[in-house]
Amino acid sequence: MRAGKHVLQYLHDETDAAWAITPVNPAGVASAFPVVDRAGAAIGYLTLVVEGDARRFEPLGAAAAVALGHLASVDARAARAADAPRRAPSLEDELSHGRILAYFQPIVELRTGHVVAIEALARWQTADGVLGPEAFLASFDHGELMLALFDRMLESALDVLADHKHRMPELSAAVNFEFAHVPERGLADLVRSRLAEHGADPESLSLELSERLAYDLSTAAVAELRALGDLGVKLLLDDVSSSLDAVTRLPGVPIAGAKLDRRHVKQLTGAERDVVVVREMIARAAALGIEVIAEGVETQTQCDRLVRLGCHFGQGYLFAVPQPASSLAAVLDAPLAATW
Ligand code: C2E
Ligand code: CA
Ligand code: CA
Repeated sequence: MRAGKHVLQYLHDETDAAWAITPVNPAGVASAFPVVDRAGAAIGYLTLVVEGDARRFEPLGAAAAVALGHLASVDARAARAADAPRRAPSLEDELSHGRILAYFQPIVELRTGHVVAIEALARWQTADGVLGPEAFLASFDHGELMLALFDRMLESALDVLADHKHRMPELSAAVNFEFAHVPERGLADLVRSRLAEHGADPESLSLELSERLAYDLSTAAVAELRALGDLGVKLLLDDVSSSLDAVTRLPGVPIAGAKLDRRHVKQLTGAERDVVVVREMIARAAALGIEVIAEGVETQTQCDRLVRLGCHFGQGYLFAVPQPASSLAAVLDAPLAATW
């Protein structure tokens, strides 16, 4: 299903949902459409993860699953000649062979579209196409593997900064990590040495920490995060809830900013009263002295409202989809115009 990645990209572009191809019917996914071969046997599933009503994407999902089935039979015929037995890949192998890689999504100044940063987002390059983190991240279930993933994303992001340093010296990079996986030692040292190897300023790096489990941090893990803050690395809270609670409930962790989850940004398209929650979040962030970056900005209306509410930075399909480093240059070069 190599060509399947185009179908996936299309779905990602056309909808506000996350789509992936998985070999098994995953539990806990809102909708999974069987991708069937010519004989009608399920050879994979097109999975749809959506925070709202999945039903509105059902016709699209079903049609895309059929298209994927056709593509799969073409690919299967082409591959039959080279029919070597394949064992299930381990994620360690996939990482060490460079098949888990970073895509990058620009973060822009909302008013001008000027790119200020890039966020590294993990992707898995498989024979079936490029899969998003929902297809594999849950399998990075122990700290060491998560740290190895983080390291890969960090190195890739610092490579991009180095490549663009001359033209965009102010560009910064964001890498994702989860509070639950912050180790008791070694994280700050790892980041310090990677920055030095790449000749990058600590100030040009942000860590996006997802808020889940933020309150269970051990004292040693807090010390690691504080060491990163002392180094000058920015710590951002990812997926913040409307309360912004974690900012004050993490004593000693210097949180510099928060990512406004796309479910909040989505409300900005609705009635004026829906805007209130977001307005309050932005005001609270300002009172706490932290910056806000909006995620999932898809329309010009959302962008305009965010600017009016005092949110200055954002990312989303309005500006650019996540993409490989090789195609970033064109996007970084010119201030981005709205695409619709
Ligand atoms: P996140 O950190 O909140 O990343 C933003 C997600 O929103 C990305 O999904 C991105 O592709 C998607 N997105 C961006 N703009 C838009 C838009 O305008 N509309 C919509 N509907 N979606 C948009 P992605 O790449 O599938 O990543 C999902 C999550 O997986 C990330 O959410 C992050 O929590 C996690 N993740 C990704 N890479 C890594 C990683 O290297 N390490 C860790 N620990 N987590 C990662
Ligand atoms: Ca993030
Ligand atoms: Ca998020």
